[in-house]
Amino acid sequence: MDLTHRPRRLRQDRIRGLVSETSLTPADLIAPVFIDATATTRQPIESMPGHERVPIEESVARVEEVLETGVEAVMLFGIPESKDATGTRAWADDGVIQEATRRITAETDAYVITDVCLCEYTEHGHCGTLEPELRDGECETPDPSLTVDNDATLTSLRRTAVSHAAVGADMVAPSSMTDGMVGAIRDGLDDEGFHDVPIMSYAAKYESAFYGPFRDAADGAPAFGNRRHYQMDPANSREALREVRLDADAGADVLMVKPALPYLDIVRDIRQEFDHPVAAYNVSGEYAMLHAAAEKGWLDLEEVALESLLSIKRAGADLILTYFAEDVAGRLR
Ligand SMILES: [Zn+2]
Repeated sequence: MDLTHRPRRLRQDRIRGLVSETSLTPADLIAPVFIDATATTRQPIESMPGHERVPIEESVARVEEVLETGVEAVMLFGIPESKDATGTRAWADDGVIQEATRRITAETDAYVITDVCLCEYTEHGHCGTLEPELRDGECETPDPSLTVDNDATLTSLRRTAVSHAAVGADMVAPSSMTDGMVGAIRDGLDDEGFHDVPIMSYAAKYESAFYGPFRDAADGAPAFGNRRHYQMDPANSREALREVRLDADAGADVLMVKPALPYLDIVRDIRQEFDHPVAAYNVSGEYAMLHAAAEKGWLDLEEVALESLLSIKRAGADLILTYFAEDVAGRLR
C-alpha cells in the first residue's frame, strides 16, 4: 500500500513525547485541604477515600504531606467550631481558617489559597445571609427559590476575604456565586492595603449533583431548599461567559469553572474568550466515582485519574483543583 498519510508514524515510543500537545506537571495542581476546628484527631472522609478532615494542630503536617508530592499550592476549607445565622466565624480573627493559615504560612512554603464562602459557617448551610422573610422565621416551609440575600452577603464575603489576607493567605477564592462578589472583595482587599493578593473567582459554578461527597467533607449541605438561584443552571453555556465576563471586569485574576469533567466545553469556551488563567475544579463526585469503580475492579484508578486531569488541561485549564493532586503528582515525578 502506498499511503501518504500515516499518523501512526508519530506514535512510536521515541517520538511521541516530542509531538505531545498537552503536558501535566505537579505545578499545575492545587490540593484541597480540610481543617476541622471540632476535631481532635484526623477524621477520614468516607466518600472521598484518602482524604481527611484534620484538626488545626495538624494543619502544618497535612500541608507538608502535600508539598512532599511536588504539589506547591493548597486550597483551604474550614469547618468552624460553631455556626450561626450569618456565618460570623468565617471572618473571626481566631477562626479555623485564620488559625490554620497563620501556622501554614509561617511554617511552610506552600502557596495558600483560601475558600471564601459562608455555607460551612451558617447554621442553615446556605452561602450567605438569608432573605429577610426567612431570617425572621416568617416562612415555616421556605420556598426553595427564596434563599440568600445577595447584597447583605457581599459585606460578609468582603470581611472574610480581608480576614484571610490579614493572616497571610496568598490568594482568596470566592465560591458563593454572589452577584458582585469579586468587586466587593477587590475593594475590601485594596482598602486594607492587600493590593497584591489575587482573586481566583469561582466564576462559572454550576448547581451540580457532583458535589455530594464534598458535603460530607465540609459539612455544608443546605438545611432546606437548594442553591439553584445562586449557582448556575447546568443547561447554560452562554450564561457562563456572561458570569465570567462580569468577574473579569471586576478584577478577577483567575477564572474558575466548577465542576470540571461534565463542563469541559465551558472550560474551552472561557479559554478561547479570555486571556486570564483558567482554573477547573475536578470535584469530589468526579473523584469518588472513579474510586468506586476502581474498588469494584472496573477501572484502573491511576490511569483514569491521569487521563481525567489531562483532558481538563487539554480543554484549556491552566490550573486544576483536584483530590487526585497528591497521587497524580507523586506519579508524575
Ligand atoms: Zn458556599
